[in-house]
Amino acid sequence: MTQVRKVEVTEVGPRDGLQAEPRQVPTEQKIALINRLIDAGVPRIEATSFVSPKAVPQMADAAEVIKGINRSTGTVISALVPNARGAIRAAEAEVDEMVVFVSASESHNKKNVNRTVEESLKGFEEVAIIARDAGIRVHGAIATAFGCPFEGDVPASQLAMIAKRFQDMGFVGMGFGDTTGMATPPLVRAGVRAVREAAPGLSIALHFHNTRGIGLANVMVGLDEGVDKYESSFGGIGGCPFAPKATGNICTEDLVYLLHEMGIETGIDLKKLMAIACDVEGVVGHPIPGQVIKAGLRLDLHDMDAVRTAEG
Ligand code: MG
Repeated sequence: MTQVRKVEVTEVGPRDGLQAEPRQVPTEQKIALINRLIDAGVPRIEATSFVSPKAVPQMADAAEVIKGINRSTGTVISALVPNARGAIRAAEAEVDEMVVFVSASESHNKKNVNRTVEESLKGFEEVAIIARDAGIRVHGAIATAFGCPFEGDVPASQLAMIAKRFQDMGFVGMGFGDTTGMATPPLVRAGVRAVREAAPGLSIALHFHNTRGIGLANVMVGLDEGVDKYESSFGGIGGCPFAPKATGNICTEDLVYLLHEMGIETGIDLKKLMAIACDVEGVVGHPIPGQVIKAGLRLDLHDMDAVRTAEG
């Protein structure tokens, strides 16, 4: 069993979740959801993305969203930045942390950001300088870390190489992005170990998708390996618009339910989180994958008379 006693959950729904929605969610609704997450004790939130509004119109209101967030608590507010231009906007908006991302595979990176892996890594050097000058921490995310929908398996040596470059640029942490839900327990174990060895100075976060139904099984392996940072989305919404059949980040309420049942602390009020997820369904306007909001907590008991028996 894991030695991990406390986990930092990053809620990526406002960015990774809402970005994938065809419907444009009004800025005030995004801000309200984020402020409720903060009130529920979520320690870290990926609030938005400073991408080109042309490429991702759902995130065009990035600066306004950050402006509306209650910053009086300790919740860390991070934002995705694809390049130096995004980093300048994120620095102006005064985010706490910037997240840059590169795919482990050449073909997915080309498809996603139209650059080679090396071109992306080179571009991050400029981001690192902008962030350092603004006193903002940088995390590096590796997309398709556990497999590429176009190339197949990703060698652990590729993950190690990219993580080492992140460390050399002064990043504080790295994340494995399971962009198309190709992670499996052995791949998680191998990837985490390879990165730890290559870049021991980086914190490690795991971002799984439940595309094939084993998202939380992969979390269990991460915990077993001592990883104490996980990323998930309220209601399990999200995916990657530039990857085929990629649906469903693991669901934050389901993750927190699992962690709490294991006696692992998150600092999150699960009931409040579940109430937020229920409202997310209304915001996106379609059913969402989260399971605990449907079934309730295991000790939410039922009135016997309210349940039909076999005899009817
Ligand atoms: Mg995701």
